[in-house]
Amino acid sequence: MISHAPADYRCPFCRNLNEGKGDWPLEIVHLYDEVAVKLNIKWWRNNPGAVLVVPRAHYENVYDLPIELGTPMQEAIRDAAVAMKQAFDCDGVSQRQHNEPAGHQDVWHYHVHVFPRFEGDHLYQSRDT
Ligand SMILES: [Zn+2]
Repeated sequence: MISHAPADYRCPFCRNLNEGKGDWPLEIVHLYDEVAVKLNIKWWRNNPGAVLVVPRAHYENVYDLPIELGTPMQEAIRDAAVAMKQAFDCDGVSQRQHNEPAGHQDVWHYHVHVFPRFEGDHLYQSRDT
């Protein structure tokens, strides 16, 4: 539908999942049939334990995501959130999802950020870029 990926784009998530390149499988937290959960250490330095939930098949953004993946994605997001509560005793959990450059998407494979929140974590003042 709407694509911002360059013609020669080599999707890092697909490379990891399909070719075993990059830091995976060390970064993989859990694999579901249609969805993968991986560590995300890039952003949110005051919120360690963040993960990315990604479909195992390539879809660039929310516009392309098949509706049938809604439930598997949400199941993985819920499981990650529950695990964060148990593992980190966090005060809350946030999820974010970005589409297109104006929406701050920087990997052209649909993904949802899920991360623990803490009272006074100053999330929006602490993002690493
Ligand atoms: Zn991909």
